[in-house]
Amino acid sequence: MEVTKETEGLMRLLEAREKRQNDKLKMVSNGYHLVSLQLNIPGLPKSNCNLLSFIRLVEREFSCFLLSQNPNFKWQKKERWHDFSGDSIIFLFKASQINVDKLKDITERFEESFELGRIVDLDVLSSYGVPVSSGKAKACFICESVAENCRKVKRHSIEEVRLTMLEAIASFLQKQKNNELVNKLASFAIKGLLHEVSLTPKPGLVCRNSNGSHTDMDFITFINSVSALSPYFVEINKFALSFEGADVGEALPYIRTIGLKMEEAMFKATGGVNTHKGAVFLMALSCFAVVRVIKKTGYLRLNAFSSVIQQLTRGMVQKELCLVGDETDLTHGQQCFKKYGLQGAGARGEAEQGLPTVLHHAMPFLMERLNKSYSSYTNLELNELLIPVLLKVISVNNDTNILYRHDKTILETVKRKAYEALQGWDNGDRLLYDQFVAWCNDKRISPGGSADLLAITITLQHCKTEFAKKEA
Ligand SMILES: [Zn+2]
Repeated sequence: MEVTKETEGLMRLLEAREKRQNDKLKMVSNGYHLVSLQLNIPGLPKSNCNLLSFIRLVEREFSCFLLSQNPNFKWQKKERWHDFSGDSIIFLFKASQINVDKLKDITERFEESFELGRIVDLDVLSSYGVPVSSGKAKACFICESVAENCRKVKRHSIEEVRLTMLEAIASFLQKQKNNELVNKLASFAIKGLLHEVSLTPKPGLVCRNSNGSHTDMDFITFINSVSALSPYFVEINKFALSFEGADVGEALPYIRTIGLKMEEAMFKATGGVNTHKGAVFLMALSCFAVVRVIKKTGYLRLNAFSSVIQQLTRGMVQKELCLVGDETDLTHGQQCFKKYGLQGAGARGEAEQGLPTVLHHAMPFLMERLNKSYSSYTNLELNELLIPVLLKVISVNNDTNILYRHDKTILETVKRKAYEALQGWDNGDRLLYDQFVAWCNDKRISPGGSADLLAITITLQHCKTEFAKKEA
């Protein structure tokens, strides 16, 4: 019974290969050289989910490699084949435009340079229907000898070779996935900060056309700051991926080490101006939490995200803002907390509660208003979308930037004015908003803490869309 099944598989394989060969010959007869990309995995089945993902990745890598040699080496046609003999990508080149030996040379150099090149076969068929071979022997995937010799003497079982290759592919795919997560998340963090500062006009805050209530910074100071911070988001994300500890709280000192380097880079880039200290704190925690949740479950669940932030910052307010003994040399945060209690706990308080302002106010508010993909919003549309979100945040946030420089009465007035401006905005009346902007600028009131929370909201919104649970 087993033998019959094996024989049947072999027959189907030979049939599929023969059909492929005939199809290829037909294709080249129209004046094309053909390159076919396939995987040389022994045993059956020849295709599965991972193998398909892998060959697509190789297709992309090879396409770039080819064009990197010469932008004119562009294929005329590309086809993706799938049959019993596996997946294959067919590239057709006009024979009049590219020399077939050159093509073979490129495919060989790709196989040699690509990390898993030994699993990849790139065959070249000339427009005369003749296979072009370099005669070079391929190395065995397992023992480094000549692969053909290992096959002849059956040095390794088919099962062993297949398993080794499948494992290598799985780990390659995982590595790619991790890189993609790290890079995408870093770009979302940068986007959050850039979109926040680009909103114009804003109450008391730096925007494209105004310094708001500030005299020591402008739009370019922020651009310089974000540029300097950019590389560190990748560092945080990589750290988050590598962190294996069961107690998330143990990660905090490491995140803070990167955070301190970020502050240093920021001050250097801005000539000593604090543009993003609060934002760096919250964004670094958020990046860590996003990676942590995705690593565990494969997608971003906001409840789990919030819980990681809480675990990271558990006891932080008590430890860092409550004071014992010497109270002469207090930081801004400590002074605020001393005077206003939990209402003055600022970014630390927000973090310790798992970012409630972002998750319970700003995010649902933004999601409700999004009526198409965020990335398709134009400059003006984005302003229309995000200014109400900023107003929403200001109307509920106990911004310690305001508490520290002013007082509780001013904070409550700011919150009320933001609420009223939002009502007006939604009724098509922009006058209240313009008055609010002018009032903040005039009174030198800057809701910087709310701006930070808006940046986090934008970043998280992107993460939620990009790393959503895939439907089965
Ligand atoms: Zn071998």
